[in-house]
Amino acid sequence: MRFLFLLLICVVFAGQMLGGEYTQRQHDLMKRCIQLAYQAKARGNYPFAALLVRDDRVVLVAESTVNTSYDPTAHSVVNLIKIASRKMNWSELRHCTVYCSAEPCPLCASAIYWAGIPTLVYGCPATLLQKKSGETFYIPVRELLGRGTRKTEVIGPVMEDFAAYSHEDFWR
Ligand SMILES: [Zn+2]
Repeated sequence: MRFLFLLLICVVFAGQMLGGEYTQRQHDLMKRCIQLAYQAKARGNYPFAALLVRDDRVVLVAESTVNTSYDPTAHSVVNLIKIASRKMNWSELRHCTVYCSAEPCPLCASAIYWAGIPTLVYGCPATLLQKKSGETFYIPVRELLGRGTRKTEVIGPVMEDFAAYSHEDFWR
């Protein structure tokens, strides 16, 4: 009985830490997103990727192409939203979730907000990336998105270890 009680406390606490409900399907989608981040790195780019998901199905995928396109703003989420704006009706974005292999930077978080995407799931926390990269341009994504008039649900960090490992040998 005591074990069950402790288990319940842990589940509730974990749910609060994540900022929302995190399902097995979301876990599988995040796994795919992080695998894409590994692919981006293999192609000579920064190890970041993003998925656009509607009704638990992947609609679009994008990677960082900062290095290969020589564009410092070609972050995975910015790329994703640019593809979406060409291929989809804008109003559809209001029914989508964006998955990011890492906590979005202020540029990407702003793009999510202005695209009107109501839900974000992210993997590796930005604070962990800071330690690896030495870069410090950090506004917690919940804080930044929390300043918007519209509410954006944020779930994360999730699969931190797998997500962080994609950065393991990158920032040197
Ligand atoms: Zn970014």
